Amino acid sequence: MKRILIVEDEPEIREMIRYILEPQGYLLSEADNAQDARRALGEQTFDLILMDWMLPGRSGLEFTQEIKQKSQKSYPPVIMLTARADESDKVDGLNSGADDYITKPFSPRELAARIKAVIRRTGGQQDELPIEYSGLCIDPVRHQVSLADQPVSLSPAEYKLLHFFMSHPDRAYTRTQILDQVWGDNAYVEERTVDVHIRRLRKLLEPSGHDAFIQTIRGVGYRFTPSHLNRS
Ligand code: CA
Repeated sequence: MKRILIVEDEPEIREMIRYILEPQGYLLSEADNAQDARRALGEQTFDLILMDWMLPGRSGLEFTQEIKQKSQKSYPPVIMLTARADESDKVDGLNSGADDYITKPFSPRELAARIKAVIRRTGGQQDELPIEYSGLCIDPVRHQVSLADQPVSLSPAEYKLLHFFMSHPDRAYTRTQILDQVWGDNAYVEERTVDVHIRRLRKLLEPSGHDAFIQTIRGVGYRFTPSHLNRS
């Protein structure tokens, strides 16, 4: 689970970001000014900060400069959110130490893609840990799936799909959300593709009964529900 701190003074925008990111499995915290954000950063660690440029009091730009200069502590990457599309402002934003820049208004797809890219680029150690549920194990470092210690051979798409499910258990996802998460920016994949890959994945897991983990939620999409939680 990735934690994101949203620093934004407009409640509507915070709510919109929450609406986009929550179903994707992110844990979100909110602050509406630099002072609250500083407190939140002192209380827990985050994988990313979404920082509005125009904040009351200390601006998002100044605050980014401030936290990036404190080199003794490693701060999470920052994506700057702003209504300014001007090229020189963009340079200012990146010079302040921001890792990326999104101009408002942005699409849900763009926001999700940028966040994923920045987290991937800046680390994301959590993704490297093996996950196991009742003998079904995925090892991201070795890029290997095994069932009761026997390797299972999966296509790249099935592997990504299974990894997404195993790292986001017990949550219902629509086909569109699964497409965004697994196929990413590739807009040419149809929703039906999700069903095709789920069918294949279930077939591979069927002999051991693990196919029951992947549940169809009528009218919604799919959910990965491991009956016994043995997270290792
Ligand atoms: Ca603002």
